Amino acid sequence: MNLEKLSEILKNEPKFRYAQINKALFQDYISVWSEASSLPKILRERLTAECSLEIKAQIFKTAGGRKSEKALITLADGEIIETVLIRQRGEKTEKAETAEKSTGRNTICVSSQAGCPLGCAFCATGMNGFSRNLTAEEITEQVIFWARRLKAEGKGEKIDNIVFMGMGEPFLNYAEFIKAVKFLNNPETMNIGARRLSVSTVGLTEGIKRLAGEKIQINLALSLHAPNDTLRRELIPVAKKYPLREIFKAIDNYISRTGRRVMMEYLMIKGVNDSDKNALELADLMKNPLYMVNLIPYNATGKFKPADRERIAAFKKILEDEGVPTTVRLSFGTEIAAACGQLRGKRKGYV
Ligand code: SF4
Repeated sequence: MNLEKLSEILKNEPKFRYAQINKALFQDYISVWSEASSLPKILRERLTAECSLEIKAQIFKTAGGRKSEKALITLADGEIIETVLIRQRGEKTEKAETAEKSTGRNTICVSSQAGCPLGCAFCATGMNGFSRNLTAEEITEQVIFWARRLKAEGKGEKIDNIVFMGMGEPFLNYAEFIKAVKFLNNPETMNIGARRLSVSTVGLTEGIKRLAGEKIQINLALSLHAPNDTLRRELIPVAKKYPLREIFKAIDNYISRTGRRVMMEYLMIKGVNDSDKNALELADLMKNPLYMVNLIPYNATGKFKPADRERIAAFKKILEDEGVPTTVRLSFGTEIAAACGQLRGKRKGYV
């Protein structure tokens, strides 16, 4: 898609044309201009010739199931990014406790950068280096891609949630990230409620502060992954610049300005951050009643191994005994390397 080219073509068209086109592209999710029946034929033909709606992508599915699908989208400059559709509607869930298990949802995980410069030790994306920031259009294109796919299936399913948890650190690309958020939320374009949008950061305090000042209240998650600065710096190199004390100060400011809960994401890595002592340390950090912990079973990507199921249950119990609201996230899509910390891990093997 090329929205700049589209604006150029439309510059002499009447105002109402924009509304027609917004509806066709961002609510009816057309994938060819011939489907935009509200437009005059001559305009449809010009748009077909000069402004392709194609999104080039390759899809990988989990075998035999409907759970997760990953798409590798090829951008105009040949860069390849990854985005994931996590389908939960009608699925039989595992016994693990999760906030999502009873409702069933289609969640889209989007990338905000091609690669990531932060090089977290447990993360496949970080291991593969960084190419560039994505534009807001390239971010929203990932959502449009999945919306078209759901529409083509004809089962009336829609996107329920969008999480900025794919490749990259969204707050390193703040301007384009927030532009994409506003575009997704805008009633004239995609009209997706702010409460259905979530962003995850490794703790870039400047970004947390800026988000607290935005009029749009999307959900915030912190990729915490360690209960103290020493371990955190080993896992997340950029944590050297952002001590936990400063991060929690920024988060508390966000909470006092927005009144919203903040999710603390915690990957459970065997023998690294999953001991009883770690759980008690983590509980100690969770002072604000609006903090919640989400334990995420780790998907092996190299030198680390996932914590055992029993260990995760014991860790959760310690947190709950300490009064910390805690969930365990189901791990989605390991078969297609689409789970947390796995995006782009196998790219070279695919393309
Ligand atoms: S975990 Fe997030 S911030 Fe860290 S390297 Fe991976 S994508 Fe980047």
